[in-house]
This record gives sequence, C-alpha cells and structure tokens, in this order.
Amino acid sequence: MVLTHVEAVEEGSEAAAAVFASRYVQDPVPRYELGERSISKDAAYQIVHDELLLDSSPRLNLASFVTTWMEPECDRLILEAINKNYADMDEYPVTTELQNRCVNIIARLFNAPVGDGEKAVGVGTVGSSEAIMLAGLAFKRRWQNRRKAAGKPHDKPNIVTGANVQVCWEKFARYFEVELKEVKLTEGCYVMDPVKAVDMVDENTICVAAILGSTLTGEFEDVRRLNDLLAAKNKRTGWDTPIHVDAASGGFIAPFIYPELEWDFRLPLVKSINVSGHKYGLVYAGVGWVIWRNKEDLPEELIFHINYLGADQPTFTLNFSKGSSQIIAQYYQFLRLGFEGYKSVMKNCMESARTLREGLEKTGRFTIISKEEGVPLVAFTFKDGAGAQAFRLSSGLRRYGWIVPAYTMPAALEHMTVLRVVVREDFGRPLAERFLSHVRMALDEMDLAARAPVPRVQLTIELGPARTAGEEASVRVVKSEAVPVRKSVPLVAGKTKGVC
Ligand SMILES: *Cc1c(COP(=O)(O)O)cnc(C)c1O
Repeated sequence: MVLTHVEAVEEGSEAAAAVFASRYVQDPVPRYELGERSISKDAAYQIVHDELLLDSSPRLNLASFVTTWMEPECDRLILEAINKNYADMDEYPVTTELQNRCVNIIARLFNAPVGDGEKAVGVGTVGSSEAIMLAGLAFKRRWQNRRKAAGKPHDKPNIVTGANVQVCWEKFARYFEVELKEVKLTEGCYVMDPVKAVDMVDENTICVAAILGSTLTGEFEDVRRLNDLLAAKNKRTGWDTPIHVDAASGGFIAPFIYPELEWDFRLPLVKSINVSGHKYGLVYAGVGWVIWRNKEDLPEELIFHINYLGADQPTFTLNFSKGSSQIIAQYYQFLRLGFEGYKSVMKNCMESARTLREGLEKTGRFTIISKEEGVPLVAFTFKDGAGAQAFRLSSGLRRYGWIVPAYTMPAALEHMTVLRVVVREDFGRPLAERFLSHVRMALDEMDLAARAPVPRVQLTIELGPARTAGEEASVRVVKSEAVPVRKSVPLVAGKTKGVC
C-alpha cells in the first residue's frame, strides 16, 4: 500500500500508463545490486515474467523425474497454503496431521510391519536427498553405538553402493564422513551386482544401499538377492549389516506395477526406504519421504521433541522452516487417486515408455540399454558408439524445445554416452509420437550435416630460424585459401569433423 502511494505521488500519470509504455522497459534492470528506487508491481511482474520466458518449458524437460503437472484443484490448495511455515507445528496441527497420514500411507504401501492402530516411523523431507542424509545418519549412529558397546573402534564407517548411485549418496558420504565403497559397473550390467556388494561389506559397513530405479537407466536392483546374500554373510560373521533402499523414483512404481516384486520391508534386512514425493509421488518439487522399519532403527538421540498442545511431536529433519504446500499436495494425491489412480497413471507412463522405446528402435540407430521392467524411461546409446553423436542429437532436439540429456556413464564405463528420456504423467502418447518425429528429423539433419562440404583451409607457412637455443622456430603464414572437400573425418574426443 505504502509503495503504491509513494509511486502515485512521484510518478504522476506514468503510474497509470501501461507497463510497455513506461520508462521501466527502457531503464536497465538492477541485476547484482539492489536498485535505489522501487518500481511498480505490474512492471516488476512483467519484467521478471518476460525474462523467465527464456527458460525451457518444464513439460518438455524430459531430463527430469520431477513432477511438472498437477490438477488445477491441487494447484489451488498449494496456493492457499503458500504462506504456511511447516515448522510452526503448534499453529498448524492439521498440516502436521496430514504429514503423519502420508507417512503411514507410504509405510503400509512399502509393507512396513505396522499393526492396526499403530503409527509408522518416518518423516517428510525436502526430497530424497534430505531423506537419504537422515537415513544415513541413523545407520551411522546405530553402527557407532554397536561398536562402542562392543569396545571396538568406531571411526572408519563405510557404506557400500553401486557406482550408479545418485550424487546425493556422495554428498552424504563427504558431508558426514563416511567412506563410500562403490561396486563398479560392467558392460551390459549397469546396476550394483549384489555378489560384489556383499563381498565389499566389512565390519565397518553401516549399510548397503540398493537402488530401486537406477538414475542412469531406471533399472531396479535385485534387493531380494542382496538381502539373502547379506543375511548369509551376517550369519557367518556375526555382523548385523542392514540394507537401505533408495526408492526415489521406483517407490511409487513398484507397488502399483510389480506388486509381487519383493524389494521393501518384506525383506528383513531392509531397515529404511526413501522415496521422492515429487517424482512418481506426483507432487511438484519439494517433497520426499523416509520411512524406518521400526522405532529401534531410528536412534532416539537423533530425534528432537517438541511439545505442543500437550502432545509430543518428534522431529528429525535437517531443515527447520519450509513450505507446507507440498505435504498438503501429497495428501491430496493420495486421497484423490487412491491405489487405483496411481496404478492407472503408472500404467500409462509404462505404455508411453514402450511407445518411445519401439519408435527409437525402429530408427535402427540406437541400442536401448534400459530394461522393460523398471522406471518408465528409455535410456539409449548410438549403435556406432561415437559419443559425440549423442551430444549432437541432444542439441538437435533442443531446437524443437525438447530437453534430453546426454551423459557419460560412471567409472569403468566412461566410454559410453547415454541419452535418457524420462516419461512422466503429463507425457502421453500424442507427445511421445511428436517427440519421435522430432528425433527422426534431428537424425536427418545430423546425417545431412555429415555429408555437407567440410570447409578446408590450406595454409602455406614459412619457418624462420630460432634465435636462441630452446626457442621454437617462428612461423609466418604466407598464404591462406579455402578448399572445399566432401569428406568427413571422425576424430575422437567429441569432435567428428576435421581436416587432415
Ligand atoms: C532423484 C534421485 C535422488 C535424489 O532425490 P531428490 O528428491 O531430487 O533429492 C536420489 N536417488 C535416486 C535414485 C534418484 O533418482
């Protein structure tokens, strides 16, 4: 109100003018320093809005698992709660209750041993990264407590994962001083081999982390096999090494599409599971979950107790203040979709992934490296192996608005360059077909460019004598002329054209 008033006085009739008729679109915008003066709210809106037009369209961003569409009713709920700080639990007990409902719904979906009327153990987080930090801390503390009680050293904890882990595991390891022992991937096997993982386990291993839905290829790791092998090793050694399942993307796929697959709390060594609510939980960015099997799996000393309205509210998170909207939106989705709705969404995603896979195979140019079972995505490489092709296709598709990442695989497989298309709820068959036609067009353009004349420059040089010992001879260009040739020379290291 005050700002509007000041402006009306200072700017006179200009305040009433349309934004594009005002000085605001002519003045430089303060970028890295606070501007001296305020500007009108509609001009501020227009300026920020217009600059943002240059961001890619989230719906066409096929790089990400994170939700880009929700029903308008849920958008409304999100806006209604935009000013609610989740940390104010005593002021917003209903929001807290909705979180507890979500934790219980997810725990039961993951077959946690929770009796009727019993409360599940878990917490809402900003995403799977925070969830993984918390789960990792719980494992570390439990291991330390066990080692201390046994009078053994407890200063060299390690964690065993596949080299395909998401970067948040590396963050956890570095931030919380745990050694990360990675099982290397091999050609044709892009997930953690459970035999090798269990071989790497020693008395300092705080847990083995399995991934349900590898970030690189969407493949589910064999948690059942890992559980059985690890149980045998625990029995032999007397250790008690547990399993964590990183189900960031797969946690909301497997229960609906592969209900028979045993990857969750049905396996006795699985002590905690994380899942991203903002991936296939179908909520916009900003929500994740971690669930523990039992109370005993979350050391009491990590929990902070807040009392409100006479009730005990235990909290275990890294952040204090955060928004409430995402938690509310998650509950909306559970209520709105139910098991049936989630199953239909996931089935449609799997179908769209199949359409994509078949279309890409039909071009004859790609090797598909993702499996049919897993997260609905298609990961593929060029058959002729040249990594530069993948990067070129990625930028070719960008011109149509699509974002498809090309990346090299981790250690031991760095020579492989993979393209990955993630299918989300809002990527239906019409978009999939449109995308495929753009892939074919981009391939044609690449082929055409490869056949186009390569400009060649012929240089005539003159070498002068070196003046002192050790100095290089001087070079003088006498003549430079362009010579067109019809030849493409593949070079390594990303360049595919050159002149010899
Ligand atoms: C996305 C992802 C993460 C990180 O999750 P955020 O919710 O983005 O923090 C961790 N692990 C896997 C397997 C993932 O796919």
